[in-house]
Amino acid sequence: MAEVKKAATNQETLMARAKAIIPGGVSSPVRAFGSVGGTPVFVARAQGPRVFDIDGADYVDLVCSWGPALLGHAHPDVVAAVQAAAAKGLSFGAPTSAEVDLATLIRDRVPAAERVRFVSTGTEATMTAIRLARGATGRDLIIKFAGLYHGHSDALLAAAGSGLATAGLPGSAGVTAATAAETIVLPYNDVPALEAAFARQGERIAAVITEAVPANMGVVPPAPGFNEAIRRVTSEHGALMIFDEVMTGFRVGPAGWWGVEAGVENPLYTPDIFTFGKVVGGGMPLAALGGRAEVMQLLAPVGPVYQAGTLSGNPLATAAGIATLQLADDKVYAHVDRRSAELRQAVGEALGEAGVPHVVQSAGSLFSVFFRDEPVLNYDDAKAQNTAAFAAFFHGMLDQRVALPPSAFEAWFLSAAHDDEAMSRILEALPVAAQAAAAAQ
Ligand SMILES: *Cc1c(COP(=O)(O)O)cnc(C)c1O
Repeated sequence: MAEVKKAATNQETLMARAKAIIPGGVSSPVRAFGSVGGTPVFVARAQGPRVFDIDGADYVDLVCSWGPALLGHAHPDVVAAVQAAAAKGLSFGAPTSAEVDLATLIRDRVPAAERVRFVSTGTEATMTAIRLARGATGRDLIIKFAGLYHGHSDALLAAAGSGLATAGLPGSAGVTAATAAETIVLPYNDVPALEAAFARQGERIAAVITEAVPANMGVVPPAPGFNEAIRRVTSEHGALMIFDEVMTGFRVGPAGWWGVEAGVENPLYTPDIFTFGKVVGGGMPLAALGGRAEVMQLLAPVGPVYQAGTLSGNPLATAAGIATLQLADDKVYAHVDRRSAELRQAVGEALGEAGVPHVVQSAGSLFSVFFRDEPVLNYDDAKAQNTAAFAAFFHGMLDQRVALPPSAFEAWFLSAAHDDEAMSRILEALPVAAQAAAAAQ
C-alpha cells in the first residue's frame, strides 16, 4: 500500500517559507521552538489574554510578549493612544512633551531614577548602563552572574541564560576574547564569590549588573539580603550597581522589584542605575535607563559618555508607555498577583498528582516551573532539569490551546486580562499536560 503523506499544515508551509528567507524562520531565537520541537505558532492577532494563529485558532497566552502585555493584548486605551500618536507623525528626531511625561511617570514610581534616558530595546539600555558605569569610574571590568540575561550586547553575552540556555550554548561566536575577558561571571546568590572577586580586582571593577529577580533561567529569587550585599560590596569598592529591571520593572509592582523588596520610602538599598524595558513600552519598542542624577548627567550632551538613537523616545512607543503606566494601577497588580498564585498552586498540584518532579519558584507575580526535585538557586541548578519532560508538558498544553513560553528556562506571564474563562482553560489543561510530562520522563 502506498504511504499516505500527511498534508502540511498552513503553519508548516509558512515556516518553510520563513526558513527560506529568515535564519531559522524567526526574528529572535527562542521563538523557533528549538528546544520543544514542532512548528511555532504564527500569530495573526491578539486580544486580551488570547493570541490567534493564522488559521484563526485561539490560545490562552502565558507568554504575553515575554512580559510587556501586563494589561493584556491590544488594550483599547493603549491602542487608541498609539493610533492618536500615529496620526500626528511616526517619528520626528526631535524632543517631544510625551517623553517628558513618560520620564516623569517613571520617576514618580521609582524616585531613585532621578534622570531618565529613553532607548528602543532592553539591550540598548543595559549596554548604555555598562558604558556609563565605565565612564563614571574610569574602570574596565564588569561583573555579571551566570544565567542572568541582560540583552545581546557583546559584553553581556557570557553565560547569559534565556535563548542561549534554551539552545544549550555557553556564549556566542563573534564576541572577541578581549571583550569576554572584561566580563567576570560569578555564580548567582553567592556573596563570598562576589567578595572574593572584589578582593582580587576591586580597583578595576566598574560595575556589578544583576537582574532585580533573575527570570531568564527560569525564576530564581534573590536569597534574602543578596541584592543588599551587592549594594554594600560595590559601594565599599567604588563600583556602581546596575539593577536590570527590564523584566520586573512595572510588572511585579508599581515600582518594580526595587519597590517590592527595598521599598520606595527609606529603601533598604538603592542601585546607581536601573534599566527598564518590556512593560514600560507597553508592547512597543521602548526601553529606558534611569538613576542617580550625578551619574546620568555623564551622558551626552551633558557629559562625555556618548549614547544616541534615531528612534529613541519614538512618539508611538512613548504613547503606548504612558497609557500602560497610567492604566497599571494597584488593581492591576493585585489581579496579576492573585492569578499568579492560583496558577502556581494548580500547576504544582497537577504535576504532583502525575508524579512529575518539579519546583515552582516565584518572586511577586513572576514565576516559573522547573522540572526537577530540588530548589534552583543558580544556573547550574537550572540546567539540571528534565527539559524533555518540559517539552512534553509544553505540547500537552499547546494541544489544548494554552501557549506557554517554548522553553524550560523562561518565566510564565499573566496579565490583567486573564479572566475566569481564560484561567479555566489553563486549569483544565494542566492535568492532561502533566500526564504527558509523566510519560516523557
Ligand atoms: C528582555 C530582557 C533584556 C533585553 O531586552 P530586549 O528588549 O529584548 O533587548 C534585558 N534584560 C532583561 C532582564 C530582560 O528580561
